[in-house]
Amino acid sequence: MPYIEVLPDNRRTSKQMMRYFWGKLFVYKISMQQKTFRFTHASTDCYFAAGFAQLKKLVNPASAVLVTDENIFSAHTEKFTNWNTIVLKPGEEYKVQATVDSVTGQLINMKADRQTTLVGVGGGVTTDITGYVASVYMRGIAFGFVPTTLLALVDASIGGKNGIDVGVYKNMVGTIRQPRFILHDYTFLSTLPEKEWKNGFAEMIKHAAIKDATMFRQLEDNNLPFYQRKKTALAELIKRNALIKIKLVQADEFETGNRKLLNFGHTLGHAIENSHRLMHGEAVTIGMAFAAKLSVHYGHFKHTARLTKLIEQYGLPISADYDKGKVFEVLQIDKKGEAGAMNFVLLQKIGKAFVQKIPLKEINNLL
Ligand code: ADP
Ligand code: ZN
Repeated sequence: MPYIEVLPDNRRTSKQMMRYFWGKLFVYKISMQQKTFRFTHASTDCYFAAGFAQLKKLVNPASAVLVTDENIFSAHTEKFTNWNTIVLKPGEEYKVQATVDSVTGQLINMKADRQTTLVGVGGGVTTDITGYVASVYMRGIAFGFVPTTLLALVDASIGGKNGIDVGVYKNMVGTIRQPRFILHDYTFLSTLPEKEWKNGFAEMIKHAAIKDATMFRQLEDNNLPFYQRKKTALAELIKRNALIKIKLVQADEFETGNRKLLNFGHTLGHAIENSHRLMHGEAVTIGMAFAAKLSVHYGHFKHTARLTKLIEQYGLPISADYDKGKVFEVLQIDKKGEAGAMNFVLLQKIGKAFVQKIPLKEINNLL
C-alpha cells in the first residue's frame, strides 16, 4: 500500500502534519499485520488485529456466503448487513451431520456454485462446520474464517482440521483443508461470555506449557481481568498463540509428528468432556493436570504445582469427579489409541513436551 498518498495542503499547522503522518504510520503498522503462511497444498493469509470491514476486500459479497450462529448474529447483526448469511443454532450439539445437511440444502437454494466462498464467522463450532461443508460441497469450494471466540482465534480456526462429532466421539468425521484467509476482528470479543474467555485461556496455557516458557511466565504475572482490560496486551497474546499453532501445523500438517504436541491435555480431556458435560477448556485443563502427573513419572517433570496454580489462576479446574469406568471406555476407542497402549503428550519441563506411549492398563490404574 502507498505509505504517503498526497502531501497535506500547505495551510495545515505542523501539529496537524505530525498527526497526519502518525495516522499514516498507524495504518501502515496495522496493514503490516498481514502474513501469508504456506502449507502443503495451500496457503492462508492471516490478518491480525484487522477489522470486519476488511472482509469485502477479501471476498466479493455477491459470491460469498457467511455462516454464523444465532448468538453472534444477534449480538453483531449490523456487521452482516449486505452479506448472504446462513445462521446456525449455537452449540457443540449442533456440530453434527444434520447441520451439514441443512447448510448444504440452503447453499443449493441460494444457488451457491464452485465460485462461491464460504466464510465462517464464529467460534470453533461454526468454523469447523463451515470448513467441512466447504470441503465437500461440489467436491470443495473456497472458504475463510472470521473467528469470534478467543478459542477460535488462537486455536480452532488454525490448522485446517474441519469436521463434526458423531455421538460422544468428537471430530470423528472430517477433513484437513486450509482456509484461504483468517481475519481477526477483536471487537467481537466485547460480547463474549466470561466462560468462553476461560476456554480460550485453557488453550493458551497449553501452548505455553508445551512450547513457550516465556509466555508461561507472562501468564503467571497477569490474570484474566488484565487481558480483558489491556487490549494491546490481548492482541499480542492472541498473535503469539496463533503463531505457535501455525508453526506447529506448518511443520507437520497431517499430524505424523510434532503437531501431536497440541493434544496435550486433550486425550483425557476429550474423554471426559462429552461424557461429563464439561466445557472444552475445563476438560483440557483437567487433562493437563492429569498429564502433568504422568509427566512426573515418565519425564521427571518437576513443575506440576506451577502448572496447576496457573490453571486455577485463570479460573479453570484441575480435577473433577468423573466416572473412571466410563472414561476409560471412551479412551480406548479414542482415535489416538493403538492396540494395548495410548500416546500421551507429556512435559519434560515448562515449554518442552514429548509423546509417550503408555500401556492402557497403567492408565487405568492412574485414573
Ligand atoms: P468454541 O470456539 O469454544 O468452539 P463455539 O462455536 O461453541 O465455540 O461458541 C461458544 C459459544 O459462544 C456459542 O454459544 C456461541 O454462540 C458464542 N459466541 C461465539 N462468539 C461470540 C461472540 N463474539 N459474542 C457472543 N457470543 C459468542
Ligand atoms: Zn482444544
